Amino acid sequence: VAFIQVQEGCDNFCTYCVVPNTRGREVSRSIADIMNEAKHLNDLGVVEINLLGQNVDSFNGVDENGKPSTLGDLIAKVAKLPNIQRIRYTTSYPSKITNDMIELHKSEKKLMPLVYLPIQSGSNEILHKMNRKYTREKYLEIIEKLKTANPEIQISSDFIVGFPTETEEDFQQTLDMVKKVKFIQCYAFKYSPRPHTPAATMDGQIDNKVKAERLRLLQQELRKQQDAFNKSCVGKVMQVLFTD
Ligand code: SF4
Repeated sequence: VAFIQVQEGCDNFCTYCVVPNTRGREVSRSIADIMNEAKHLNDLGVVEINLLGQNVDSFNGVDENGKPSTLGDLIAKVAKLPNIQRIRYTTSYPSKITNDMIELHKSEKKLMPLVYLPIQSGSNEILHKMNRKYTREKYLEIIEKLKTANPEIQISSDFIVGFPTETEEDFQQTLDMVKKVKFIQCYAFKYSPRPHTPAATMDGQIDNKVKAERLRLLQQELRKQQDAFNKSCVGKVMQVLFTD
């Protein structure tokens, strides 16, 4: 398994995150540069490539004619390498996934049916305060489209609980999203202020005990869903790749 950095930086400016300040604006590598690396890895016998970007759906590296390409264009090229059997891409920003990319999940069998799609919160109010540019409705619509393209697709995600001003009702909206989407693997964290970010100085910071309890409840629900998915795999025959 190998990882190729295809894009760096982020233009999204979520109010809790330091990345746009520390890593700068979005920059993509050229297709030629990435494909040289991918061919080299293919020749070494790598079978799985994970294309990495802070905001990988915004990939727009230029092709041999100097024209910007999409992530889908890049994946189609990597998929032609004979030894590469599996392709993944990380990290996606929900509203930036294009319809072409979703369609590729239907046609490109080398694309693994696991999409890492950080949601952060199930409350539209909190998503707005986080400056995440999608709503819970939009998120559900994307999941629906992905599952229509390939019913095998499973979703993993990230959550932040206890963002400033998060009410019990906001948190219940997050739990509700977890029950609706049935994520199979997630990372959940208590909100913690990062220096020089707008959220760090917002009114309505949440008490640590409240955050800890919400995190416990969320993780309990996520574990339940992960267990249910694992049990649903019992008895199925699947091709797997062992890694160390
Ligand atoms: Fe960008 Fe992700 Fe940070 Fe938001 S959380 S600013 S999308 S790197």
